[in-house]
Amino acid sequence: MVAETNPSNQSFVVRIPEDHYQEMLAHVIDGYPNEACGALGALNGTVVKHYPTRNAAEHPDDFSIISESDIVHIFNDIDAYDGEMIYYHSHPISEAYPSVRDREWAQRSGYLYVIFSLQYRPEPPYARVFRINAHGEVTEGHIERIPVA
Ligand SMILES: [Zn+2]
Repeated sequence: MVAETNPSNQSFVVRIPEDHYQEMLAHVIDGYPNEACGALGALNGTVVKHYPTRNAAEHPDDFSIISESDIVHIFNDIDAYDGEMIYYHSHPISEAYPSVRDREWAQRSGYLYVIFSLQYRPEPPYARVFRINAHGEVTEGHIERIPVA
């Protein structure tokens, strides 16, 4: 068996169908100048559903949190198809990399983190994906955008 090659030499791949990716872009642009957030449901590394949510953080220009009630609804929905939850949010002015606070939250939740940055506005936001382990160590993966027929 031939090992799966990873052209970008990154450790894992998240495939996002282009229609979902465009919805996520619209959601983070709409949230500007605040951080915007939401979740994705994935099966075997491929995103199958997009859940845009409001940002429930006390200071939404500085952090993002999905409200408890939204999270419960999303969990139940993803559970129904045995999917994996991915958390995504935007950084309005800073790079697409987990902040100290992001790492603290992520090491508790264990979710993959997709982070958009709007730092190069009016250029379109760009996105990166990260796995953050229980020690707060960050590993970057690769986002593959899948064309939709
Ligand atoms: Zn962040």
